[in-house]
Amino acid sequence: MGPMTDTPCPIRLRPALAGVPAYVAGRPAPVIPGLETFKLSSNENPFPPLPSVLGIIAEAAGRVNRYPDMNNVELIEAIARFVGVRPTQVAVGPGSVGVLAQIITATCDPGDEVVFAWRSFEAYPILTQLAGADPVMVPLTANLEHDLPAMAAAITPRTRVVLLCTPNNPTGPALRHADVEAFVAGVPSDVAVVIDEAYLEFVSDPAVVDSLPLQRRFPNVIVLRTFSKAYGLAGLRVGYAVAHPTMAEALAKTALPFGVNIVAQAAAVGSLGVADELDERVRIIVSERKRVVAALTRLGWTLPATQANFVYFPLGVESAAFAAACEASGLVVRRYGDDGVRITIGEPAANDRFLTVAEAYLSARRSPHR
Ligand SMILES: *Cc1c(COP(=O)(O)O)cnc(C)c1O
Repeated sequence: MGPMTDTPCPIRLRPALAGVPAYVAGRPAPVIPGLETFKLSSNENPFPPLPSVLGIIAEAAGRVNRYPDMNNVELIEAIARFVGVRPTQVAVGPGSVGVLAQIITATCDPGDEVVFAWRSFEAYPILTQLAGADPVMVPLTANLEHDLPAMAAAITPRTRVVLLCTPNNPTGPALRHADVEAFVAGVPSDVAVVIDEAYLEFVSDPAVVDSLPLQRRFPNVIVLRTFSKAYGLAGLRVGYAVAHPTMAEALAKTALPFGVNIVAQAAAVGSLGVADELDERVRIIVSERKRVVAALTRLGWTLPATQANFVYFPLGVESAAFAAACEASGLVVRRYGDDGVRITIGEPAANDRFLTVAEAYLSARRSPHR
């Protein structure tokens, strides 16, 4: 142990750091003796990796004495083939959070503005402020959806990026194609419009935005996707953007060198090769979501429409009590202060447990003195 551990750190930090909120990660499942507990706090895929993908991960693990391919050639080609674009339009990073950091680094100087809805993904204000840029947070509508007219009105000459989160984390609604099309048409062409589709694979409503045709028509659109959610590789950190080739090049330039590791590269390529098998699991999660939403509606809950692998309870000051009730039943969920609580759709047993909690909570609320 060094002698200096209690002295103040003399290193001068960037003032921008002082205002950066800490990322609050979903907590692990609680430990309750005799009860199976579930982590429903991070929108993860409840299924472990497919055996074939695990085999690829094990093979790649045997090569980690070597650096990964810095240019991600094989991965980028596999994504381009899968998505149906040219490889020059694809950029990758350590999670789509990593790619978003590359987007902001490539576009924002200190004092520039990034417009996004709020509440939305909590990485947005963090990444914006780390770059020294200013977050412009536009409140969601009463239905907890993006207020696109208000977002359009929030664009100023300082705006460099607009982030659209669809389906929106944590509230669940997705953006409609016609609305996004009209919105993008009104955004100055030198402002990047990022369509964050982390939950795309769970969408079942055909009216939801079809981002790739918009990207083809509007070269300032950047489509952001991830292997973390539907494809179950959250722990390996790999995501990608589809963009204009000049933008994709800028994203490669602003990437952390070797940011996508050798195991992540191999697992992502392997996952695209078994997309049909992974889609089968996504279908199970989507049907579980529909089952949970239908049951909650029958119980009397009115909740924002969700197209993702989670449901949101805008409970205000009741949020703490609801989260505590979930936790007491072995479910860790994600509470957003006194705004609401987000619950990830998990395996059927976890969802059944959750429905029991949601039912008991409602009946206790209806007859509080029983
Ligand atoms: C989970 C999530 C991501 C994905 O993050 P990764 O860095 O790819 O794991 C991106 N955007 C939103 C809105 C998310 O909820």
